[in-house]
Amino acid sequence: MRIGVDIGGTNLRVGVVDGLRVVDEFRVNADFSGMCRRLPADTALKEIIYSLQQALSSALARYPDVDAVGLGFPGFIVAGRVAQSPNLPGLMDVDLATPLRAALGCPVIVENDALAAAYGEYHLNGRQGSGLIYLGLGTGVGGGLILNGQAFPGEHGVAMEVGHLIVEPGGRLCGCGNHGCMEQYASASGVVLNYLASTGQQRDAQEIAHLAQSGDTQALAAYALAGDKLAQALAQILKVVDVGHVVVGGGMSAAWALMQQAFERRLDSDLIPALRGKVCVTLSQAGDQAGMIGAALLAAPSST
Ligand SMILES: [Zn+2]
Repeated sequence: MRIGVDIGGTNLRVGVVDGLRVVDEFRVNADFSGMCRRLPADTALKEIIYSLQQALSSALARYPDVDAVGLGFPGFIVAGRVAQSPNLPGLMDVDLATPLRAALGCPVIVENDALAAAYGEYHLNGRQGSGLIYLGLGTGVGGGLILNGQAFPGEHGVAMEVGHLIVEPGGRLCGCGNHGCMEQYASASGVVLNYLASTGQQRDAQEIAHLAQSGDTQALAAYALAGDKLAQALAQILKVVDVGHVVVGGGMSAAWALMQQAFERRLDSDLIPALRGKVCVTLSQAGDQAGMIGAALLAAPSST
């Protein structure tokens, strides 16, 4: 058994993974995002390591058979180190694995959270084909790429930062500093902005989904625009990496039915004609557990 951890901005999900199944899960409140904003970087790092160590020690005490730990971390990961994390400011070129390995006495690896989810989905889908693209729709849009059966982080850990593909030149200002990034339209916060732009009203993405389900035209349009912009970005990605399977996951994928038609229409129109009808787009097999499963699998890839 292994442990796979999905690290979010405000909580940790620690999954005990046996094969491709999460057999137990602990959720721990850990406001890493707040720590990074409030505390000096070195203090925040110590707090983060301490929180992870506490959570993992208690899980390992209950499951002594666990032989490796994988962390899915929201940031750019280069050779196991956190190069940078836009959501956890101040963390630069940080080694989380070594102190945790020393404290826990078992192998620990760190990988990008969306890449871990991609790896989990690839295995859950029976490792069909040589590659897979994962799109995680949440507050932002994350992405992970599997090529030739291997997780592909890129040389600087930013491969598949798909949320920041520019789909609307001169469009909305993004946290990354550019304008018109895809996640400003196709994430949960993007849907909020889509609705705000057309109605002047601020509602959260779930409220807008409820309105859309009851036939509200502007709410439907807010989700349709999200689907359209997601497909616009995906069609470009597929021209670079010709991968046959795309998995859509993350919390906002629950509202996929509201995005699907616009997504398919745009994908069909923007893809190279030779690819039309040949790209399989499916919803996540594991719901929100793919990140934990993938992180656990990556913890000892040689034996999977
Ligand atoms: Zn951006």
